[in-house]
Amino acid sequence: MDEHRHQDVITYFTHGEDPRILLLSGMHGDEYESGNLLEAYLTQHAPSLPAFLYIPRVSPSAVKAKTRKNAYSNDINRQFTKNSTDPEAKAVMSLLGNYRFDLCVDIHEDPDRTMGFYLYDTEQMTDEELVAYRAAIHKTDAKLYTGVDDVDDEHLNLYVEKGYVSLGFEKTGETTGFSSRWLYEENRCKRSFTAEIPGKATPALKSSLIHVVISFLLSAHLT
Ligand SMILES: [Zn+2]
Repeated sequence: MDEHRHQDVITYFTHGEDPRILLLSGMHGDEYESGNLLEAYLTQHAPSLPAFLYIPRVSPSAVKAKTRKNAYSNDINRQFTKNSTDPEAKAVMSLLGNYRFDLCVDIHEDPDRTMGFYLYDTEQMTDEELVAYRAAIHKTDAKLYTGVDDVDDEHLNLYVEKGYVSLGFEKTGETTGFSSRWLYEENRCKRSFTAEIPGKATPALKSSLIHVVISFLLSAHLT
């Protein structure tokens, strides 16, 4: 992977030419164990992966402080809007404005979960894809989470079924500032997945989930 800087705010890596895959971690600084594990996974496996662009710390100040909010008192995953004044969100949007991706995978953690894993999808998997996805997760010791994602967040509160929820942006008119929604509305990325790794899981389980999820989504050509 080649390391780059953008606007002296964001560090990012590229592998290969003309990347059509975008990988993100470090939006929320209290979820960064999975970010470190993703960086380790990509460092090791980049040679066998298609070309990608990876931003390990979308909010460098939140990762540094190990907090959900960044140095500008923002949850950066609510700042992906045209009028945002958040310097980190603006730097990321400026960088990504130079690219068009087929696939984005954004790695988060759900701090309330010990074993339960789930995935947000801006599109909808076919029944066949869902079977393959759930079988892939079952190869790890994780469980497929069923239930409400986050009752404390007015923009979430979505029902997750066996580790999967389709966001269906086209059905809602509201602008929320989610990075995945910005990528979709700006035609920067055809399809985005947000993986919620169980925050209380062991590093070994987090690592095997990252391995399975990244290799499944990249090899399944869900674009
Ligand atoms: Zn998060």
